[in-house]
Amino acid sequence: MREKVNKVLLFLKGKEYMTDWGRFCFFALFVGCVHLILAALGAVMCCLPLAAANLLVSVLDFLIIGRSKKCKSYFGWIGVVYFGTCVQSLLSCYLLGWTYGFSLYNLVMIPVLFYVMYLTEHVVNPQKYALIYTLVNCVATLILRKFVYEGKPVYEYPVYTDFKISFINNIICFLILVCFSTLFILELTANRRELEEQNEKLIRLANYDELTKLRNRRSILDEWKNLKRSDYCVVMGDIDDFKKINDTYGHEQGDEVLKVVSSCMAHAVEPIDYVSRWGGEEFLMIVFGNMEYALKVVGKIQQDLKRADLEVEGQKIVVTMTFGISERDSIPDGDIDELIRQADHRLYQGKRSGKNCIICKDT
Ligand code: GH3
Ligand code: MG
Ligand code: MG
Repeated sequence: MREKVNKVLLFLKGKEYMTDWGRFCFFALFVGCVHLILAALGAVMCCLPLAAANLLVSVLDFLIIGRSKKCKSYFGWIGVVYFGTCVQSLLSCYLLGWTYGFSLYNLVMIPVLFYVMYLTEHVVNPQKYALIYTLVNCVATLILRKFVYEGKPVYEYPVYTDFKISFINNIICFLILVCFSTLFILELTANRRELEEQNEKLIRLANYDELTKLRNRRSILDEWKNLKRSDYCVVMGDIDDFKKINDTYGHEQGDEVLKVVSSCMAHAVEPIDYVSRWGGEEFLMIVFGNMEYALKVVGKIQQDLKRADLEVEGQKIVVTMTFGISERDSIPDGDIDELIRQADHRLYQGKRSGKNCIICKDT
């Protein structure tokens, strides 16, 4: 019970979906209750056919709720509830005339039908069928309108009765429209929310590396191309002898090392700097500042790696990295490929000269 109340509260906040079953139940229950009120109205007016027809339609609506629980498609049942109301409405117009406001039900059921049909799964071509249902309703109403205009109502009541009844019908119809329009908006809000969440997830998947949670190569290149600043350095870092780490401790432990290295790099930079997994065990950073600042960042990464708590079966894994740095100001046109090439070249100079070092100029 508590769970259901929570679900309803979440739905009212536009955070939870309405199931097809829930939506259909609400639709049939609401319409069934309206018919029950109209049946009572018919009884008060001593209009037996009106009372009986409405009672019948309301019982039908309530029975349908029980029957429809196990079905997958509510297409047929939606039609039964909809046409039940239309037939009752036209019958009331035929019995009492047009001034009692019963024809309003035929009108307000149109947006309700579109909403229920459109949002219910497994209804193929909802717009098409909603339009056909509406057309049938419209033609029947127009034919009856002419018929009632030319003839006399079956039941006649003292003056003001029509005004009072039409007043009640107006109120009920307003209620129907307000309730179902609100439901429609709430469902759309929940839909939009989920779409936005999925969109964010897709953007994350497309731009970030799953293992290290760092930007991927494409993402950092996109950011780089749109960069307006020119006061930055490019740092290429590569884990030393990573293949050996994999071979000695296993691939999973290798993944753990990649995570620790990534976290050290992410913590060493300022929030505006970029850190990316360039590929495999290679990383590229864009740090805003001069060479002195870049050296400070890289020094911090090396310190953090020394202190990193990497152990397998009580044995500490030693992880070191080699870095190559290029400075944007040293390349007049700031060509991205040239900056990458220079940092990469310096990184491999570092590898050749014994690893675990930082190279910031060509030797
Ligand atoms: P060097 O010091 O010269 O860089 O040597 P290295 O062993 O680090 O470089 P090498 O290019 O020989 O090997 C890189 C290894 O990184 C090979 C590859 O299997 C491993 N690797 C790449 N991506 C991943 C990954 O996502 N997880 C794990 N566990 N290993 C990876
Ligand atoms: Mg390596
Ligand atoms: Mg490498």
